[in-house]
Amino acid sequence: MNTVDFILDLLYPPVCLACGELQVIGTEVPLCSACQAKWEELRRSRCPICGDPETVCACKPPLLADLIRNVECLHLVPYEQTTVAGKLLLTAKDERFPRLTRFFADELISALQMRALLEEQNDACIVYLPRSAARKAESGVDQAESLARALGQRLELPVLKAFARRDAPPQKELTADERLRSARRTYRLRKGFSLTEGTTVLLVDDILTSGATMLAGAELLRSVGVGKIVCVSVGRSVEPSKKQKK
Ligand SMILES: [Zn+2]
Ligand SMILES: [Zn+2]
Repeated sequence: MNTVDFILDLLYPPVCLACGELQVIGTEVPLCSACQAKWEELRRSRCPICGDPETVCACKPPLLADLIRNVECLHLVPYEQTTVAGKLLLTAKDERFPRLTRFFADELISALQMRALLEEQNDACIVYLPRSAARKAESGVDQAESLARALGQRLELPVLKAFARRDAPPQKELTADERLRSARRTYRLRKGFSLTEGTTVLLVDDILTSGATMLAGAELLRSVGVGKIVCVSVGRSVEPSKKQKK
């Protein structure tokens, strides 16, 4: 922890970002021990689609699996608003907490290493799906960008501004097809953006749902010669209809 962070801790003692319990000054992990245990439990819970623990699940949303080659997906935890993970993800959307972003980045890096997805990282780069200007202005935060930057710093990989976007209606009420149409209209490549042919790209977002947004991003990257795409998200929410019935 650097001096500035330490002084900030003295002024605003750190709290568990899931339950609000006061933490020891200088604590790096943004969770109290009880909430950290719940986070670990979520990490080990079973994927509702493949049945493997979330730590090793390599499931892709159908959109990403069907429409694009050379793509891997990695997430950390199931996303539900009421869990410890859900609270952390919602907190990250509303306010900037560097130790929360670092926590997500560290967890993602160990997951990437566990699945050996970083082997060709020498020429890799990181891109993110930016938040709408309106939402960013409201909260002062672009959680996907913060996460991408924390990953870039830790992995010593460049973070590139690949995408521009316009404001779009919320996707919650849309079907997967409608989400995809909307995502394709929302994002475009920034003028002059290019990649060296075959580059591995980590495509970062905070939550993966239908995969429509990631797919729209992946299609744009494909148009500039991307090699492998690793879609990286902290949370993944599975639509009830896709869950395996047991
Ligand atoms: Zn807690
Ligand atoms: Zn799975």
